[in-house]
Amino acid sequence: MSDFGNYKYVKTRKIHHCVYCNRAIPIGTMARNFSGIWEGDWQNWYTCGFCEKEVEPNYAEPSDGISGDEFSNWLYESDYVICKKCNGNRRYSAEWDWIDITHIKVTCGDCWHEWIVEIPIDGDAAIKAIEGVKNDA
Ligand SMILES: [Zn+2]
Ligand SMILES: [Zn+2]
Repeated sequence: MSDFGNYKYVKTRKIHHCVYCNRAIPIGTMARNFSGIWEGDWQNWYTCGFCEKEVEPNYAEPSDGISGDEFSNWLYESDYVICKKCNGNRRYSAEWDWIDITHIKVTCGDCWHEWIVEIPIDGDAAIKAIEGVKNDA
């Protein structure tokens, strides 16, 4: 349960990690900061624009606190884990990993087809699925 605290928007002056996706938010990015008492502890966390807009409203459960699974839950509920090659709809068999700060590589658990999803840090930028992944040996 949230006890008290403040949200404010800041332009980051050092690297902070987003509380949901755990990405390092680049210096100089507008990000939302929470500071205050949360579940009895002093907390100071940052949320990237993407997670604030897409993840938090749907996957954060304030009464349960923040587990770090919210971003993954968002991804697995999205269409971005559905394989276009085999039309596999066993979405939870897909595996994913960050390959850089704005790209995820998804691997189909059925046919091993791979694709990339571009996830912006900025909440106003579009999410893009990119087919035709180069194999990085
Ligand atoms: Zn984030
Ligand atoms: Zn597949």
